[in-house]
Amino acid sequence: MWNPEVETLPRDRLQALQLERLRQTVQRQLEHVPPMGDRLRAAGVRDSRDITSLDDLKRLPFSHKTDLREHYPFGLFAVPRDQVVRIHASSGTRGKPTVVGYTRSDLGVWSEVMARALALAGVTPGMVVHNAYGYGLFTGGLGFHMGAELLGCMVVPISGGLSQRQVLILEDLGGQVLCSTPSYALNIAQTLEEQGIGLERLKLQVGLFGAEPWTEQLRDALEGSLGLKALNVYGLSEIVGPGVAGECIEVRNGAHIAEDHFLPEVIDPSTGEVLPPGQVGELVFTTLTKEALPMLRYRTGDISQIDITPCMCGRTSVRMARVRGRFDDMLIIRGVNLYPSEVERVLLGIPDVAPHYQLIVERPGAMDELTVLCEPSGSVATDGLTARIQHTLREATGLSMRIDLQSPGSVPRSEGKAVRVIDNRPH
Ligand SMILES: [Zn+2]
Repeated sequence: MWNPEVETLPRDRLQALQLERLRQTVQRQLEHVPPMGDRLRAAGVRDSRDITSLDDLKRLPFSHKTDLREHYPFGLFAVPRDQVVRIHASSGTRGKPTVVGYTRSDLGVWSEVMARALALAGVTPGMVVHNAYGYGLFTGGLGFHMGAELLGCMVVPISGGLSQRQVLILEDLGGQVLCSTPSYALNIAQTLEEQGIGLERLKLQVGLFGAEPWTEQLRDALEGSLGLKALNVYGLSEIVGPGVAGECIEVRNGAHIAEDHFLPEVIDPSTGEVLPPGQVGELVFTTLTKEALPMLRYRTGDISQIDITPCMCGRTSVRMARVRGRFDDMLIIRGVNLYPSEVERVLLGIPDVAPHYQLIVERPGAMDELTVLCEPSGSVATDGLTARIQHTLREATGLSMRIDLQSPGSVPRSEGKAVRVIDNRPH
């Protein structure tokens, strides 16, 4: 454990700490973030002393990605510009990106929670960390970088892309820890195979994968093709970046949330009502220590659930289940809800199918049509594979899909975040 004292804090002491810090976040918004302060006052919160228990969190208004867009770029910052030492931004699939900022203290918190996430995965000082997350405005690269340095690892800041050079460096520098998106890790695995580099020439032990939803089936595929233990890391730039939660190597069932810095809730996305532990809903986070961009009840759009049962590893924090998908990513095909990760789960359960896929949605006439691009895992497709895929997907999802079984290597590969869906329907 990176910080045993905090990570095993008894729940009552942890909650007392959370309450004290929640008040600070409320006070920061009241005093320094006019749009959010006004919203709090409208909800009847005029002073942080109005917050007397963690239950009062329910009285506070939600915040959304649209708030960041509306006050783009710096309108929600709670500190003067000269105290902001780092900026990151999300890719912004629609319109403007969302910009987030960090003070020096915020970067310290981020490094701390990332060091914890790496230690959770069994990474120890001195290990060689091959960091293939993209460096730049995306939080993946620098987030893992800072945490690994703090932990005392030897960081190889290779960033994403150029897969042939990736595998050369991975072999020559003896990378033991692979950090990347899961889809890009698959790309690296395939390049290793193409270059004829066997796993015995590598020193990989563990992989920390995140930044896009992925499945247990993909975990098996990554472990098999890369010869490592694959662990899930969760985060989002609006809250801090990667490191909000991470799986422990002991159990690998749900990611421990760094609850002394981020307060989680799960809500019913349509009513906003808080759901009890164990129920599936939308994850909501409140930052407890962020200075530059404090967030109250930020709606992530991620669908998950929280497990409060004690974990075998000894940490006292709650665990969040693997994210099934984002509300934004959910497709509605002929009235049926479908997460791309559901297709992934089914596809990877079928023998002879490679872990590369893409969904294309069209509406040539009145009806939606969904085409699944995929590949056989061998050099040629086995007899009846297309029909088998079609049947299995229909059984699992209730939707009939067109299967476009392409030749190996034809489905577009990820260079960072995978493009899983191309929606060509008219809006
Ligand atoms: Zn654990």
